[in-house]
Amino acid sequence: MRIPFFQFRDFPVGLHSRVEQALIEELHRNQLILGPTVTMFEQEFSRFLGGGEVIGVGNGYDALVLSLKSLGVGPGDEVIVPANGYIATINAVQQLGAKPVFAEPDRQSFNLTAASVAPMLTRKTKAILPIHLYGQSCEMEELLQLCKANGIDLVEDFAQAQGALYKGNLVGTFGKINATSFYPTKNLGAAGDGGAVVTQDEELAHWVRQHHNYGQSKRYEYAQVGVNSRLDSLQAAVLREKLQSLRELNTERRRLAKRYHQALTEIGDIAVPTASSANIEHIYHLYVIRTQRRNELKQLLAQQQVQTLIHYPIPPHYQKAYEHLGYKKGDFPIAEELAETCLSLPLFPGMTDSEQDYVIEQIQRFFAS
Ligand SMILES: *Cc1c(COP(=O)(O)O)cnc(C)c1O
Repeated sequence: MRIPFFQFRDFPVGLHSRVEQALIEELHRNQLILGPTVTMFEQEFSRFLGGGEVIGVGNGYDALVLSLKSLGVGPGDEVIVPANGYIATINAVQQLGAKPVFAEPDRQSFNLTAASVAPMLTRKTKAILPIHLYGQSCEMEELLQLCKANGIDLVEDFAQAQGALYKGNLVGTFGKINATSFYPTKNLGAAGDGGAVVTQDEELAHWVRQHHNYGQSKRYEYAQVGVNSRLDSLQAAVLREKLQSLRELNTERRRLAKRYHQALTEIGDIAVPTASSANIEHIYHLYVIRTQRRNELKQLLAQQQVQTLIHYPIPPHYQKAYEHLGYKKGDFPIAEELAETCLSLPLFPGMTDSEQDYVIEQIQRFFAS
């Protein structure tokens, strides 16, 4: 058997043909940029989240840059980001000329916590930018309290967690302004690039709506020097269909994750990624285990045709791109340990139980030998 790390399958059955149909109809509608379909998707995604304004943008990176920029983040400011995150989040801070300041994740949840962020605060801290990594919400209450006490803003990066709950509310609704990505393999994925900014603040929403479309206030009138970062109508048409199935897609991910938990919890030194508290519902964008024998296990699985990945093998503070921040090995021991021990197993909606059983069997065999 050959098990891909990720594959698009027709799950729920019929989604493929609904998406195809929607694409063809959208082509015929002949309004490919900022048309009514984009507006409809923005409204539907807002309804899904339980309110707020949604502005469709070109990709998740742009959503982050626009969110931070709307808050006035710029040179001289510091933004606290996770030391184990995805590079896009950190690049967005750097792009604006602000300084990314890394904070350690929690070993069990992989996420930033108020306890790890607090020591990194300085007079220059303008915002904190937590990622709900792998589909699991951060402990938001403590992070929000910390921000409030220090007069700084919180911006959520919920690119990996569309539909994840914290205390019954969806992530993407806690921060002052929040960013997500519709990269095809995300839980809510388009058929190409896409992203969105979400905020309950009308002024910020207005600013982003102008800024992402060249600063246009009215046709041929420009109130500010903006950029071009728009969600296109074909992607919006795909996203409208996928959004209808998002709950079902996430439920299926949770079902598969539970099967992995049950089979892997007692095996070797494996740490399974269970939700870190009762406040949190994990939606398993990625199913990331930890083991001291990670490299050996990855190699054995590859030999058995099971594709796994590492998210992420090199912590950002080791990257050449961030040399100028002056961090060194040992500065973030938890992030460094996670990079050496984490392994993402295949998990995607439409994966069959027998495919998953095959993966489990190989892992059991590895630890039995
Ligand atoms: C995917 C992702 C992004 C970037 O999204 P793009 O649409 O690829 O620009 C940003 N942050 C996180 C956490 C992501 O997973």
